[in-house]
Amino acid sequence: MSETKFDAVVIGGGFFGCSIAAYLKPHFGSVLLVDREDQLFRHASYGNQARIHGGYHYPRSLHTAYRSRVNFQSFVRDFPEAVVSSFTKLYPIARNQSKVTARQFERFCRIIGAPCKPARPEHVKLFNPRLIEAVYEVTEYAFNSDILRDTMRRKLEEANVEVSLNSAVERVQRHGSAWRIFLAGGAEVETNYIFNCTYAGLKHIPGLEPHCRTILKHEIAEMALIEPPDEIRDLGITVMCGSFFSTMPFPPRSLHTLSHVRYTPHTSWIDSGLDSPDPYEVMKAYPKETKAWHMLKDAQRYLPALARARVVDSLFEVKTLLVRNEIDDGRPILMERSESAGTVYSILGGKIDNIYDVIHRLQADGL
Ligand SMILES: Cc1cc2nc3c(=O)[nH]c(=O)nc-3n(C[C@H](O)[C@H](O)[C@H](O)COP(=O)(O)OP(=O)(O)OC[C@H]3O[C@@H](n4cnc5c(N)ncnc54)[C@H](O)[C@@H]3O)c2cc1C
Repeated sequence: MSETKFDAVVIGGGFFGCSIAAYLKPHFGSVLLVDREDQLFRHASYGNQARIHGGYHYPRSLHTAYRSRVNFQSFVRDFPEAVVSSFTKLYPIARNQSKVTARQFERFCRIIGAPCKPARPEHVKLFNPRLIEAVYEVTEYAFNSDILRDTMRRKLEEANVEVSLNSAVERVQRHGSAWRIFLAGGAEVETNYIFNCTYAGLKHIPGLEPHCRTILKHEIAEMALIEPPDEIRDLGITVMCGSFFSTMPFPPRSLHTLSHVRYTPHTSWIDSGLDSPDPYEVMKAYPKETKAWHMLKDAQRYLPALARARVVDSLFEVKTLLVRNEIDDGRPILMERSESAGTVYSILGGKIDNIYDVIHRLQADGL
C-alpha cells in the first residue's frame, strides 16, 4: 500500500464497492478499496443468477418494479460489453398457488410500462398446460460477471483508486476525529470516510457493526448449474409467482442456472451482529450437499424438457436480504449514514442494477 492515510476507504470489492470507489474518486483526493479475497467479485457479485432485472419479478413491490424499469435501461447503456441479450426471456404464470394470475401480470406490466406479449406457440408448447396458465415473452437480459469484473477493474485503474486485495478488515477504531482501520497482515490505515460495502459482512466488522442498524437475514443459497437441452438453450424462464423455479443463462460458464424458491435457500438466519455467526464462516463450514435433483424434479413438472438437462455443478453463496421486505419480496437499497469519529456509510444494493439508486443517494448527500 502506497500510503497509510486516505480520504475515503471502501470496504468490499464486489460490484457495489468497485462502483462506489470509482464514483467517489473525483470527490476525494485519495480512495482505497480493500477486499479480503485475492480477487474482486469473489462473492455475491459472481455467484448470482445474472439477471438484469426489468421489473417483471416484482408484482408485489411496485417501487422495486418501477426502479428496475429505470435502472435496467441505465445498466444496459453503461455496461454493453457485459450484457447478454441473445436469448428470449419468458415469464410463465402458474395456474395453482401463484400470487398473481395471468391477467394481473399483464395489468402489472402495463402499469410499470414493461414490454410483455404472449409467447410464441413454439415456446408455449414447452410448458405443461395443466400447470401453466399463460406464458409471456418479455425484454430482460443477463450479465456476464467476469466481463463486469474486468470493466470495474479498468474503471478503478482509470480513476486512480488504490486497490488492496487479501486485506480483510479485522476491526475499526476511532482515532481522534478519524478512523483507524486494522487489516489482516498487520497493516493499518486512517481515514475520515468509510464506505462499508461488504454485503453479507455488513454487521461483522468489529467497530463498524453499530453503524448498520437495519435487520438483515442471510440465506445459504444454492443455484444449480445445468447443461440445458437444446429447446431451452436460448431461453431464460422464470415461473411466477411463488414457490416455483427459474432458469437463466449463466454467461461466465456458458451454462444455465437453475434456482427454486423451495430448494435454493438451504438454511437462513437473522443477523444480530457480532453475536451471530459470521456469514462467510457459516458458508465455509457448510457441507454444500446439492439439492439440484429436487429442483430439477419439481421444475420438470412445469417444463418437461428439463428431464433432459444435465446437472454440472452448483454455486453456493450467501444471499443477504432486508427482513422488512420478506413479505413483498422488494429489493430496495440499504444506505445508512452515521457520524461518529468520521463518517460511516453502510450500503447494501440488493440487486445489481440498484447501483443507480445508491449513486443518487450519495449525490443527494453532496457526494
Ligand atoms: C444466489 C443469489 C442470486 C442473485 N441473483 C441476482 C440476480 O439475478 N440479479 C441481480 O441483480 N442480483 C442478484 N443477486 C444480488 C446481487 O448478487 C447482489 O446484490 C450484489 O452482487 C451485491 O454486490 P456487493 O458488492 O454488495 O456484494 P459482494 O459481491 O458480495 O461484495 C462484498 C465484498 O466484501 C468483501 N468483504 C466482506 N467482508 C470483508 C472484510 N471484513 N474486509 C474486506 N472485505 C470484505 C467480500 O470479500 C466481497 O468481495 C443475487 C444474489 C445471490 C446471493
